[in-house]
This record gives sequence, C-alpha cells and structure tokens, in this order.
Amino acid sequence: MNIRENIPLAPLTTFRIGGPGRFFCVVTNEAELVEAVIFARERELPFFVLGGGSNILVGDEGFDGLVIKMGIMGVNIHKKIKNPPSLNLASLGLGTPPFSKGESAAKSPFEKGGVEQSEVGDFTIIAAGAGEIWEDFVSTTVNQGLYGLENLSLIPGTVGAAPVQNIGAYGAEVSKTIILVRALDTETMKFMELTNEQCQFSYRDSVFKNQKGRYIITRVDFNLLKSGEVNIDYKDVREYFGRLVLRGEASLVARPRLAEVRKAIIEIRTSKLPDMKKWGTAGSFFKNPVIPATHFLRLKGKYPDLPGFVQKDGKYKVTLAWILDKICNVKGFAKGKVATYGRQALVIVTEPGATAKDVYELARELTERVRIATDIEIQMEVEKVGV
Ligand SMILES: Cc1cc2nc3c(=O)[nH]c(=O)nc-3n(C[C@H](O)[C@H](O)[C@H](O)COP(=O)(O)OP(=O)(O)OC[C@H]3O[C@@H](n4cnc5c(N)ncnc54)[C@H](O)[C@@H]3O)c2cc1C
Repeated sequence: MNIRENIPLAPLTTFRIGGPGRFFCVVTNEAELVEAVIFARERELPFFVLGGGSNILVGDEGFDGLVIKMGIMGVNIHKKIKNPPSLNLASLGLGTPPFSKGESAAKSPFEKGGVEQSEVGDFTIIAAGAGEIWEDFVSTTVNQGLYGLENLSLIPGTVGAAPVQNIGAYGAEVSKTIILVRALDTETMKFMELTNEQCQFSYRDSVFKNQKGRYIITRVDFNLLKSGEVNIDYKDVREYFGRLVLRGEASLVARPRLAEVRKAIIEIRTSKLPDMKKWGTAGSFFKNPVIPATHFLRLKGKYPDLPGFVQKDGKYKVTLAWILDKICNVKGFAKGKVATYGRQALVIVTEPGATAKDVYELARELTERVRIATDIEIQMEVEKVGV
C-alpha cells in the first residue's frame, strides 16, 4: 500500500476548502484497511476515513494524521436464490447470529470485488462495497427494478458513508433498506457484521457517528423489493406529479413508476440545490432541530406557518430552512466569499478562495440569529475535520 505525505484535501471534498492531510492512502481491500490503521496506530496518529468528501469541512491547517480514502468497490452480481420457502436471512449468512456475538465468519464478497445480489422471493439482498459512488449504486438498483433507494437519488458521496449519517431525503431514509453493515471494529481490529438494530439508526445519526472513528465500513447489504410501492407522499414530489397531471403528461389514477420517481427526484434536486461545478458546498450545513412539543407549540403560536413534524418520542422536527428564511431573513445572506444559498437557506455555498474560517464565521452568525429568534440551539450536520 502506498502511503503518501502532504496531500491537498480540498480537491477531494465538495466544499473544495482546507489544508493537506499529513499522510494519505487509498485502500482497495480489507487487508489494506487493516494495514492503514496499524500504520496510524504505530505512529500514534489519528486517522480519518474519507469517502466522497461531501459531508465534511476540512480546516485550513489540514489534518495532522492519516487520511484513509475508501476505495473498496466493484459491481458484480453473482448469487441468486429463487423462491425459498421463507425469508431466512441466517441461511444467507446475513443479519442474524453469530453476528450478535460481535463477529462473523462470513467473508466479504469484495475480496473478489463487487456487488453481491441474492434474490429471496420478493426480496433482493444486494451488497455494495463502501467505496462505490452512491448515485451510481442507486441508478443500478433502479435499473434492475428494485424499490427502496429511488428517493435517495443524486445524493453525493459513497455507499460506505450512507449509514454513517443515515442519509435521507424526500420522505426516505437509508436505514429502512439496510440489513447489515460490515465494518472493521478498530477497538478489537476484527471485522463485524452489524445488524440494522446494532447500527442504532436515528435522524441523521447512527452508531458510526456517535462512536466516531470506531467502525470503518467496508460493505453495506441492502434489502430491496422486487415489487414495491413508490413513495410520493413528500410535498415536493406530490407537487411535481400534480404538475405533470395538470399538463396532461401523467395519469391522475396510475401511480408513477420507479424510474419516473427517480427522474422526479433528480429534477427536483437539480432545481433546488446548488450546481457543485460552480459552488463549493456540503449540502445542508445544519440538521433540522428536534425540539420538545411545548417549545414547538410556543413557536407555532408566534409563527403559525412554522412547519413541524411530530416524532416517535413526541418531540417535533422543525424545518430550519423555513426559520432561516422566514424568521431570520437570511436566505442568500452573504459574508465575503461565503453565503447561504439563494434557493435553500440551509445550504451554505462558497466561492473560490473562501476558507474554512470564513465558513465557520457565517455558521456562527446563523447559529446566533436562530438562537435569539427561536431559543433553538442548532447543530452542524457537516463534520469538522482537523483545525
Ligand atoms: C449538494 C449536496 C446535497 C446533499 N444532499 C443530502 C441529502 O439530501 N441527504 C443527506 O442525508 N445528505 C446529503 N448530503 C450530504 C452527503 O452527501 C452525505 O452525508 C453523504 O453520505 C456523504 O458521503 P461521503 O462519501 O461524501 O462522506 P464523507 O463526506 O467523505 O464523510 C462523511 C463522514 O462519514 C465517514 N465515513 C465515510 N466513509 C466511511 C466508511 N467507509 N466507514 C466509516 N466512516 C466513513 C467520514 O469519516 C465522515 O465522518 C448532501 C451533500 C451535498 C454536497
């Protein structure tokens, strides 16, 4: 494995900001991953796993440790099981003990490289290497007529990072489709296969995020449906198909097909999100806050249109873009080379020459304005790397 020194990290991120990584390597299999972690440990250096760099902000001084770029990938359908009597995941070596003991004897299919697919009646279990580009993987699943990931089309990044913050969009969350995550537990230096439950998924959160640095994901197994139902309940998606019906381009009664939903999501996202060729960005910079019901009702009394969605625990998730736009009036608010995006205030965009310090200054100001106006402490969704 080739370990290089002083590698600029800015071009490897979508913000295109930040200093170099002191050491840098690309791992293409699990043995190289182990080697990389041992390299860092022997030198008492921190390490950071880099996917597509679309949810991080690298500090201006860079990262004083080892950056491990995840490159375990490939697409290779090689295992099909037709019509077994029942969905027995254990027989596939997926999702059940011995994983609960913390470790699995199953080998990663990516020793050979690739995506592994097994069909079990109506279910299709499809496994992808952590370095696969998320959007390419979603495209593959939709092209094969598999339901489950279509609403997550066009999210930048890699397959391995998707469980980390439990990516979500347009009424879908990736956790609903994940059956198992294979990862190196850097505490024990053993590979584990974590069930969906063990991943502890919640809104933009998981065990991979709240035990930062412990697990390095090498493969994700998804459980997708051969004959599913599309989910077009989300407001923007409903409105998109409503417009098609009005123009006579879609039927009022027939439900849109899988590929049509993917096309809709791509068009909606393209019209709402910044052009990454033009701007540096990491998408939504902050998380939507989840606040107690009493707090929500107090705000709702003052701002009757404030959108809020009740959660399982009775708290409310509120739409921060609405607060930034309608209460704080900061949509398109610029400070030097950094601004909130004119069409979506939750997204921070940068011009060439902007620094991480500039971004943090704007973020601090937005945080303060939201706190003063609503008494809500907002939190970054984007992760700080280095200083
Ligand atoms: C324009 C734009 C739109 C976006 N839209 C959305 C959206 O709709 N919904 C959404 O949820 N997100 C969205 N994002 C955020 C981002 O795309 C996702 O969080 C994505 O999953 C990050 O993937 P990545 O490979 O770029 O991860 P990186 O940014 O490289 O890393 C993110 C975190 O994951 C960790 N990580 C990466 N790979 C691994 C691995 N193999 N094992 C363990 N840890 C790992 C990193 O260490 C880091 O902590 C958007 C970003 C942009 C730029």
